[in-house]
Amino acid sequence: MDQTSDWSLDTLAIRAGHRRTAEQEHGEPIFPTSSFVYGSAAEAARKFGGEEPGNVYSRFTNPTVRTFEERLAALEGGERCVATASGMAAILSTALALLKAGDEIVASRSLFGSTVSLFDKYLGKFGITTRYVELADLDAWEAAITPATKLLFAETPSNPLSELVDIAALAEIAHRHGAWLAIDNCFLTPALQKPLALGADLVIHSATKYLDGQGRAIGGAVVGRHQELEELFGVVRTCGPCMSPFNAWIFTKGLETLGLRMRAHCDQALALAQWLEAHPAVTRVYYSGLESHPQHALASRQQQGYGAVLGVEVKGGREGAWSVIDATRLLSITGNLGDVKTTITHPATTTHGRLSDAQRDAAGISQGLIRIAVGLESLEDIKADLARGLDAL
Ligand SMILES: *Cc1c(COP(=O)(O)O)cnc(C)c1O
Repeated sequence: MDQTSDWSLDTLAIRAGHRRTAEQEHGEPIFPTSSFVYGSAAEAARKFGGEEPGNVYSRFTNPTVRTFEERLAALEGGERCVATASGMAAILSTALALLKAGDEIVASRSLFGSTVSLFDKYLGKFGITTRYVELADLDAWEAAITPATKLLFAETPSNPLSELVDIAALAEIAHRHGAWLAIDNCFLTPALQKPLALGADLVIHSATKYLDGQGRAIGGAVVGRHQELEELFGVVRTCGPCMSPFNAWIFTKGLETLGLRMRAHCDQALALAQWLEAHPAVTRVYYSGLESHPQHALASRQQQGYGAVLGVEVKGGREGAWSVIDATRLLSITGNLGDVKTTITHPATTTHGRLSDAQRDAAGISQGLIRIAVGLESLEDIKADLARGLDAL
C-alpha cells in the first residue's frame, strides 16, 4: 500500500485497506468464516507457528477485520491497528498488554464512566492503581507520576464540558518519566485530531461512536506502533475480545464518510453553540469552537475541528434542564453520541449520576447542565426543538 502515503484523509478513508480478491469485487467483501483452510499439512504448520503470514482463525485473523484495521491505522497515521469487540475491550486489552501488578496509571478525572470502573474496580483487583488529575493541569499530571507509573490516559476534549489537554506537552511529560501516553480519540476521530502525530503512543477508539456514525454496531480499536500493538494483538488473540467481521464491515463503510460527516457535525455544532450562547435562557455554553472557551486557542492549534458535543447550562437548575429535555420531540433522549441523530441528556442524573454532589461540583457538572451531541438533521429543526423548552423558561 505504498501509494497511500501521499493520500489525504478523505482518500484513505475510502481506499485504504482493501485488497481486491480474485473475484474482482469493487466493494469491500465480508468474510463470515470462523476458520481458513490450507493446501497442505506443512502450510498449516507454518501458518499456525506464525512463520508464514496468512489467515488462521477469525479470533485473530480475518480479512474483513484487517481491512478496517488497515484503514483506521492509515487515518490515524499509526503503524498498526488492532480491532476489538467494543471501546471498553480496547481499553481493557491495552491495560492487559502493557501493565502488570504494581504498575500505576495516571488518568484525567473526566473520563467515560465505564473507563473509571474498569480502572478502579477491575484493574484495581489485580494490583494496578489509578490516580486521577485535572485534565488541563500539566503540573498535576507530572506531580501524580511515580516510578511505578507506566501509563498516562486522557480523553480530550472531555465530555461534556469540552476541556482539553495539550497532547504534545503531555506526551513529553510521559516520555520523560518512561510512561506511555494513550489518548481516547472517540470525540474527534482522526478527521479532527491526530494524537500520534502530536506524540501520543496509542490512540483508543470506541468505533461505536463517530467511526460508524449511524449507531449500528459496537466495536473498538487501538492504533499505534508495531511493538506495543504486537502485545495487544497477543491479548486479543488469546483472551478473545475480537471484532466480528460483520461489524468490521459496517465500520469500514462508516469510515468512508468520516471526513464529510465530521465536517458537517462541526458546522452544525458551532452554529447551534452560537445560537444557544445568545439565548436568554442559557447561562453558559461549553464548546471549544466558541471564542468564549478558555482553551479556544489550544483547540484551534491541536485540532482540525471542534467536534459536536456541547455542554449547555440553562436557567432554573435541574427543573429547567429537565423541562428543556422533556419539551423536545425530535431530539433523542439518550446517553449515546456519535450518531447522525442528535441526542440530548442530563449528565447530573444519568452519566454522572453515581457521583456525590461534591464530586459533581468538582467536575463542573451542574444540575442545570444539558449535553447535546449534535447530529445531522436540519439545523433549523434542531433549533426549533430546543427553542420550545428554552423559550418557556
Ligand atoms: C463510548 C465510549 C467508550 C466505550 O466504548 P464502547 O464501544 O461503548 O465500549 C470509551 N470512551 C469514550 C470516550 C466513549 O464515549
